[in-house]
Amino acid sequence: MTGIMDDGDFEKMISLVIPVYNEEENLPPLMARIRPVMSALKRPWEIILVDDGSQDRSLSILKGFTIDPEVRVVELTRNYGQHAAILAGFSIVRGGIVVTLDADLQNPPEEIPRLIEKMEEGRYDVVGTIRKGRKDSLFRILPSRIVNMVARKITGVRMTDWGCMLRAYRRTVVERMIACHEHATFIPALATHFGKRVTEIEVAHEERHGGKSNYPLRKLINLQFDLVASFSEFPIKLIMYGGILLATLGVCFGAFLVIARLVYGTVWAAEGVFTLFAILFVFVGLQFFALGLIGEYIGRIYREVRKRPEYVIERVYEGDSSSTGGAA
Ligand code: UDP
Ligand code: MG
Repeated sequence: MTGIMDDGDFEKMISLVIPVYNEEENLPPLMARIRPVMSALKRPWEIILVDDGSQDRSLSILKGFTIDPEVRVVELTRNYGQHAAILAGFSIVRGGIVVTLDADLQNPPEEIPRLIEKMEEGRYDVVGTIRKGRKDSLFRILPSRIVNMVARKITGVRMTDWGCMLRAYRRTVVERMIACHEHATFIPALATHFGKRVTEIEVAHEERHGGKSNYPLRKLINLQFDLVASFSEFPIKLIMYGGILLATLGVCFGAFLVIARLVYGTVWAAEGVFTLFAILFVFVGLQFFALGLIGEYIGRIYREVRKRPEYVIERVYEGDSSSTGGAA
């Protein structure tokens, strides 16, 4: 931006936040498509590209973009994951409306004006998106279905598509999200926690421009657990109810065994030993499962109390001067 802006200008400003992890081939076309879209809006805008510890040439390409006054680049000290990277970007946004999108051009930048229009039409806090004709493999779409179902259930917000990161947030919602200092979070779900007026629109979806998806099955499962465990105690409750049910069944079965022994004598009971073994194995298995689950929550509590930052900014690059960043 040129000149000095007052608060009113910041209110009108659109901030784009884009997490980047090994996207060297996608960055030049991404910028080439964003620029005309944003300048056509005829209002102040900025773009914050967060390098999430890329191992390819992404960071040096990003630094090259900072000759534009609109561009700021955040370098994180290592790979913290997409959602932490977005939070790092959020920590330095200036605009009144903040839009997130992916760097791989799966979210067409041409849809940004529609998001903003919707946002201003109803003074919404969050505008989500539904991917029309999603261009991903079935292998990638199925887990998303489950994520969407779970997210709807635990947040109680009827959004159709939680996975699409092309979203717009009002500044206040973004500020409340950063104030959370939450680890392993899922931004679209966190946002609905803080935004009252939430809506969604349909947007186009494209194939990944270049490179390959950064979400192998292992990362997807982690993300799913982040979503469930960060926003509900549902798994622990499920285990508890299951435990109560099993214990009741166990008591009934015990009573049955006693009666059967009285009726049929010791021979029958001796054979019953094997049944008991079988039952025991089921219980031991369940106990391990429950322990593992509790361990998962304790692990999260431990991470929270250690107060380790959820991301550390190595440096922020902008225009002529660069500043060293902070931690959050
Ligand atoms: N990303 C990131 N850190 C990661 C993984 C991904 O910043 O650890 C970024 C990535 O560069 C992209 C976005 O998050 O901009 C979505 O990632 P990707 O396209 O690989 O996910 P998919 O579209 O397969 O869900
Ligand atoms: Mg993608």
